[in-house]
Amino acid sequence: MRVPFIDLKPQFKSIRADVYASVRRVLDSQRFILGEEGRLFEEEAARFLGVRHAVGVASGTDALVLTLSALGVGKGHEVLTTPFSFFATASAIVRAGAKPVFCDIEEDSLNLDPEKLRAKITRRTRAVLPVHLFGRPCRMDAVRAAARKHGLWVVEDAAQSFGATAGGRQTGSLGDAGCFSFYPTKNLGGAGDGGMISTDSAKLAERLRLLRDHGSRRKYVHEAVGWNSRLDEVQAAVLRIKLRRLKAWNERRRVHAAAYNAAFKDLPLVLPTQAPGEKHIYHLYTVRTGRRDALSRHLRRLGIGSAVYYPLPLHRQPCFRALGFRAASLPVSDRASREVLSLPLFAELTAGQRSAVIRGVRSFFKK
Ligand SMILES: *Cc1c(COP(=O)(O)O)cnc(C)c1O
Repeated sequence: MRVPFIDLKPQFKSIRADVYASVRRVLDSQRFILGEEGRLFEEEAARFLGVRHAVGVASGTDALVLTLSALGVGKGHEVLTTPFSFFATASAIVRAGAKPVFCDIEEDSLNLDPEKLRAKITRRTRAVLPVHLFGRPCRMDAVRAAARKHGLWVVEDAAQSFGATAGGRQTGSLGDAGCFSFYPTKNLGGAGDGGMISTDSAKLAERLRLLRDHGSRRKYVHEAVGWNSRLDEVQAAVLRIKLRRLKAWNERRRVHAAAYNAAFKDLPLVLPTQAPGEKHIYHLYTVRTGRRDALSRHLRRLGIGSAVYYPLPLHRQPCFRALGFRAASLPVSDRASREVLSLPLFAELTAGQRSAVIRGVRSFFKK
């Protein structure tokens, strides 16, 4: 049996009739930008997350850039973040005009290590940008405590964690702002690019609404030099349908992850964990082994997909070297980048596919 790393089609099939009806409504209305669907999606997403405001934008990357800019973070400033994330976490800081300062991660969670923040704070530090990597919440109590002491903003990169919780609270509601991505393969994915910012601050939400629309509140009057970064009506219509099912889909992800964990527990693999009180939503199910490449090749021969997130940590990216940032020594991230392997996990994974992955992984270690 072939098991793709990800397959979006079964999920689409399960909601196709609703999506067709909603998208047709948008097309019939010929209202594509900043209309009713977007407004309702923002309302529903804010309610889901337990925050006062949600602001739709064109991508997760834009969500980060606009948020940093709206908070006044830019030229001459530093932002503390993790080197073990998707590229956009750091490129957004550069795009906002500031400098990313990388802080190493925790061995167990692979998230930013809050204990390592203090040593990296300087006079120029303005914000901390933790990522809830693979859908596991970062330790936000400790991040917030360090940030509060030094007067730093906390911006969560929640691009992989829509619906993950810590202490019963949603990721994206645990800092000053949360940034989400609706890239199609994210656990809440649109029919194209999309993003959103969540916040309790009316002032920040208003600034973001201004910045996403050319800095304009009144047509052809521009208070700020903003961006063209709106979540379009087709995306919002699709996302409204998916948001209603997200809890159930995330629960399916957790069931699959629990089955993998049980089936692999006697193998020489480091398995993903979650701390008490946390709800990991397994945007990715990622194991660690020193024989990562051989395991990946073995699975490929059996027709089973797998992928490496991320093979080159951000402090080693050539583009940042070109900007004159010295690559710091971040040993935990470096090691993780050599050992991680993500296995197929999506809500609609069938029992047969799941068993095939389990058999495939077990057969590698039996050899
Ligand atoms: C996907 C992702 C982003 C960027 O989102 P886009 O919508 O693709 O711009 C940022 N950070 C993380 C951690 C991501 O996974």
